[in-house]
Amino acid sequence: MKFLPTADPDIYGAIKKELARQQQGLEMIPSENFVSLAVLEALGSILTNKYSEGYPGNRYYGGCQYIDDVEQLAIDRAKQLFGAEHVNVQPLSGAPANIAVYFALLQPGDTVLGMDLSHGGHLTHGHPVTYMAKIFNFVRYKTNAQGNIDLDNLRQMALEHQPKLILVGYSAYSREIDYPAIQKIADEVGALTMADIAHIAGLIAAGEMNNPVPIFDVVTTTTHKTLRGPRGGMIMCKQKHAKAIDKAVFPGFQGGPHEHNIAAKAVAFGEALKPEFKTYAKQIKLNAKVLEAEFRARGYHLCFGGTDNHLLLVDVMTSKGVTGKQAQNALDEAGITLNKNMIPDDPRSPMDPSGIRFGTPALTTRGMKEAEMKTIAGWMDSVISNHENAEIKAQIKTQVMTLTAKFPLYQDWL
Ligand SMILES: *Cc1c(COP(=O)(O)O)cnc(C)c1O
Repeated sequence: MKFLPTADPDIYGAIKKELARQQQGLEMIPSENFVSLAVLEALGSILTNKYSEGYPGNRYYGGCQYIDDVEQLAIDRAKQLFGAEHVNVQPLSGAPANIAVYFALLQPGDTVLGMDLSHGGHLTHGHPVTYMAKIFNFVRYKTNAQGNIDLDNLRQMALEHQPKLILVGYSAYSREIDYPAIQKIADEVGALTMADIAHIAGLIAAGEMNNPVPIFDVVTTTTHKTLRGPRGGMIMCKQKHAKAIDKAVFPGFQGGPHEHNIAAKAVAFGEALKPEFKTYAKQIKLNAKVLEAEFRARGYHLCFGGTDNHLLLVDVMTSKGVTGKQAQNALDEAGITLNKNMIPDDPRSPMDPSGIRFGTPALTTRGMKEAEMKTIAGWMDSVISNHENAEIKAQIKTQVMTLTAKFPLYQDWL
């Protein structure tokens, strides 16, 4: 960095420390990833200076001709990636994208059928702490004992509550989703369908998971998880919902779009269209399968019976008598970052639940493969099983640093 070190040593210092943390640790939070240097450059560009309320070709401000090119490229690439009829790339993040969809498709008081939060649903799908839960009526379906979405329960709930919208797409769910089966239930009760693919968008774009975009009414996503773009959101929909969606995002909910961020999204979508991204997405899943096998072999209870995607939800309480919080903290001390998480119908509290959630997108970006996953699973088990043993945690932290040094990250960036 040329200017920041002298212009603002405090912020520069914090960035430097965070860079070292990212370089030296094992990042296993399944919603995190490492963007390319090209994405970073677009994100740090002069496009941040421009106001461009409105949409390409139809703005409230002058001087938008190049901004229009940027936003149109992002839209066209997203359409190509997912086979979408209409795309809005302006949502500032995943949560505002979801909120905009609710206001585009629903009236206050309308019923939404979403998945129980302890079964993998997301806060923005109507958790009682959110404002959306005050405005709309959220009811819940669950997963079954085999760990699949309980389609009988979903259909029963839909018949009983006659929702205006049926919502799928999750944050801690590790299995594939049968979109046609859910669309069929929605058709039976006259509900609209929404898929929130925030976690798995990269896997879908690469053809490694089922794609709801050609089937569902609306699909929302973040762009910063498996899709490996900048922090942001996006809405894809059928042409018949295009007007309502665009109006809900602006002027309904947001002001000026963040065009530097939209440029970075376009760069990331361009990367995702390349053959290398397919290889990346395949490896994400292969790596997750190795973790699944290694944890199963060590006697851990895997929620939903395993994984079809990039993440695992593991019940450490039942498996090893260690709470999610204890496991998270101990692994943190050993240089392995993941998060504690509720398991389905968790008897414990969200602040100290029974499970941990972890995944492979960030490690796979670093170039790690099956062999590293085996090693890492062994380290994780040692730390969890000896979570109070400072010596073991320190030893593993040293090994983590040796391993990460072999997989350079942002080497000449600072
Ligand atoms: C991450 C996530 C979101 C929220 O995205 P933010 O960018 O954090 O607002 C929404 N839905 C699901 C399913 C997610 O996993």
